Amino acid sequence: MEWEAVVYGPVKSRRLGRSLGINLTPLELKVCNFSCGYCRVGVPSKGNVTAQEFEEYGWTPEQVKDCITMGLQSHNRENTSIDYITIAGNGEPTLYPWLENIVNHLLLERNRILAGKPTAIFTNATTVNQENMRNAIYKVDRRFFKLDAGDEKTFRRINVPIGATYKEVVENLLTLDNYELSVAVTSGDVSNYDSFFNAEFTQNLRKMRFTRLFIYDIDIPKTVSPRFNKKTEKERLDELAEHLRRETNKEVIVLWEPTPRESNIPLYPQQIN
Ligand code: SF4
Repeated sequence: MEWEAVVYGPVKSRRLGRSLGINLTPLELKVCNFSCGYCRVGVPSKGNVTAQEFEEYGWTPEQVKDCITMGLQSHNRENTSIDYITIAGNGEPTLYPWLENIVNHLLLERNRILAGKPTAIFTNATTVNQENMRNAIYKVDRRFFKLDAGDEKTFRRINVPIGATYKEVVENLLTLDNYELSVAVTSGDVSNYDSFFNAEFTQNLRKMRFTRLFIYDIDIPKTVSPRFNKKTEKERLDELAEHLRRETNKEVIVLWEPTPRESNIPLYPQQIN
């Protein structure tokens, strides 16, 4: 496998600047236990992938680690401008069975090759109740958990989970601290906007110990899904942010301007925001 299958970018991220991506999913697949309607990965989600299947695709931890080392060395030689090294790719990174092993290697190689570059991970919070995944997630400098709905019904329409439930995701988030919450706001045929005003959602938010909350429009090409191509107006995001600030007394940041992309690499779903 070429190292570029694992180490991609840097891409421009609205939160992280020039973000060098670490992708842990074979390029032929989308390994994810969600199948979000707005996802940019152009294949259906494969929710259950065994360690053996990863190996059959050539994505053993040894191969992935070699790619990470080669990718970081190449960017070091090229003197690439990088703000963050971010674990996010064409799938849910915590479904990669050897994530903790990969994070340990990434941090060692970051210290050796690109010392001082901070790290981040984007995840949908479904596996953080597993000790090895939580350990891995908490080793990186910043962790972003996704919560795109205010109730189960909306969750099923927006994120189209394979196995996971809204209740489980919320319960997982309630056990954590020191993280950042990501809320994508959709408009058009499949809107989640109103669900964020329900009382149970805001009660749960008040109990969650995140440090800040991001709300943002979905910045996707019209080709992804016509049902999601209606941009959420800035005024509506501001109104929601004000409501959530009042309810949680926490920092709520609105990301609205789409980020222009510099490269023609495949678009990765979670990095973009
Ligand atoms: S947007 Fe992220 S969580 Fe949703 S289906 Fe795509 S990879 Fe999975």
